[in-house]
Amino acid sequence: MENNVSGIVYLVGAGPGDPELITVKALKLIRSCKVLVHDALIPKEILKEANSECEIFYVGKRAGCKSFLQSDINELLLKLSMEGKDIVRLKGGDPFVFSRGGEEVSFLEENDISFEIVPGITSGIAASSYFGIPLTHRNGASTVTFVTGHETSAKKEKSVNWRQLAHTSDSLVIYMGIRNIEFIVEELLFGGMGPNTKCAVVQEATLQNQKSVMVELTKLPQIIQEKKIRPPAIVIIGKIVDFKVNNNITKLSSVNLQS
Ligand code: SAH
Repeated sequence: MENNVSGIVYLVGAGPGDPELITVKALKLIRSCKVLVHDALIPKEILKEANSECEIFYVGKRAGCKSFLQSDINELLLKLSMEGKDIVRLKGGDPFVFSRGGEEVSFLEENDISFEIVPGITSGIAASSYFGIPLTHRNGASTVTFVTGHETSAKKEKSVNWRQLAHTSDSLVIYMGIRNIEFIVEELLFGGMGPNTKCAVVQEATLQNQKSVMVELTKLPQIIQEKKIRPPAIVIIGKIVDFKVNNNITKLSSVNLQS
């Protein structure tokens, strides 16, 4: 796809939170871009890397807060690129994992806007490794499913079949699952998952405030409430939690990328 008038949109993953987990490619683009359009959950250290002339737009969507409509974000990207500006469209984690990156690039493609996708470390992978849980293991964990916990029992057309997942995947990595955890646990138990299956929850993974707990399945909702676990958090369920090791992270960082 080639066009000479409009700017290029770089759909870039910022990584999970620790600013040192951004890719070199992403950092170079952020430092050189004229326009930066970003979501919530982007570390401030990373935003500070933009140059002083860079125009910065916040278009975040957080549950429970005022949100920008996806259609408005699409229109903003279209407008800015039609002005001939190259744009970094920065998303938390990886832009193609539960962040509507697919919808944005389809829209750009339909409108003949050039784009490039730059992956980032997704929070599901970062949470498990910072907490010391291998996502796969030769001794009994060969499949892992990344799944959204955002769908509620009220949603008519559900695409997540928790009962089936209870026995078709060795491990589950659940994004956006905290608010719906009771329903998820009920469904997994109904689907035949063992009540003692080990679970881990990692809040604000890779950040200074990282908070984590381990518990068996039936006690998961209770512990989330007791320990006041809040989004953003990743829930990991399955045998792999048994393989947890201590990841000796010397500093959960708030670092200067230039140092
Ligand atoms: N594209 C992002 C996911 C966006 S959906 C990615 O690849 O990571 C938002 C959800 O991601 C949050 O509700 C939470 O479940 C998860 N998340 C994002 N950052 C996180 C972090 N630092 N620690 C734990 N979970 C995080």
